Amino acid sequence: MNPVLLDGKKLSEKIRETIRTEIEERKSKNLRIPKLATILVGNNPASETYVSMKIKACHSVGMGSEMIRLPEETSTEQLLAVIDKLNADPNTDGILLQHPSPPQIDERAAFDRIALRKDVDGVTTLSFGKLSMGVETYLPCTPYGMVLLLKEYGIDPAGKNAVVVGRSPILGKPMAMLLTEMNATVTLCHSKTRNLPEIVRKADIVVGAVGKPEFIQADWIAPGAVLLDAGYNPGNVGDIEISKAKDRSSYYTPVPGGVGPMTISVLLLQTLYSAKEHFTPPVR
Ligand code: NAP
Repeated sequence: MNPVLLDGKKLSEKIRETIRTEIEERKSKNLRIPKLATILVGNNPASETYVSMKIKACHSVGMGSEMIRLPEETSTEQLLAVIDKLNADPNTDGILLQHPSPPQIDERAAFDRIALRKDVDGVTTLSFGKLSMGVETYLPCTPYGMVLLLKEYGIDPAGKNAVVVGRSPILGKPMAMLLTEMNATVTLCHSKTRNLPEIVRKADIVVGAVGKPEFIQADWIAPGAVLLDAGYNPGNVGDIEISKAKDRSSYYTPVPGGVGPMTISVLLLQTLYSAKEHFTPPVR
């Protein structure tokens, strides 16, 4: 087997180049520059890093950004008021609330307060409902990044057995819905799944979305499977034992440089779509 590396770094740069060019064109036509507003509640150091990466990414493509920093003790009502203001601001195209929020915050209520037309991170209940119904919306960034990787390399999930391991609302669950939209036969696994290795052994496409280092072992992988590893764990390892599993695969995402770099580029892309007043094109 000669596995093909799904190069998320390269595709991500290609997407950013397209965005950069479109923003330059908008500038030359005196059109408004798209802007992403990021809300960070509290002082979580990892969140600080993620937010600064997103702001840096905005600058790298010439996109506007606004960072709203709220204190650790912010209440849900105070956060909702900030979101309402951004929803009403005609110069803000996308709103991102950095997860996780401090424990006193009703994070679901806060996510769901984001107007659908500004939900470029694809976190609202409404956008999940729409994606599940096959209706245009913005998509959660990491799953959509994986879909774009499949498309870039001409991998059509139609009729294939896809196994998604992990069912979080931002990752595993929407990825299962997107693969269903793309006509795969999908099995969504989680911590109560029985005989996981046997289920993974039947997969043509395996998605690692567990958050446990190298949890999906190489000897679970069927020869020729496509491996998409969304996991990012300490020590720069994913959720799939990729160093060994890749030799059994047909295509695989490395960690780092696979799924990870796609996430922020998709966020920028959907912010641009919002400025252009359309949703993300259907995945099918
Ligand atoms: P999460 O919310 O902790 O969800 C983990 C999921 O894995 C849950 O659905 C859980 O099942 C399932 N799980 C846990 N133990 C399992 C087991 N023994 N067998 C089968 N399933 C099991 O994690 P997440 O936010 O989705 O993130 C997952 C990984 O993706 C992490 O490594 C994270 O860093 C990475 N990630 C990367 C990006 C990116 O930009 N590349 C974005 C988001 C996340 P239950 O539902 O039954 O508890």
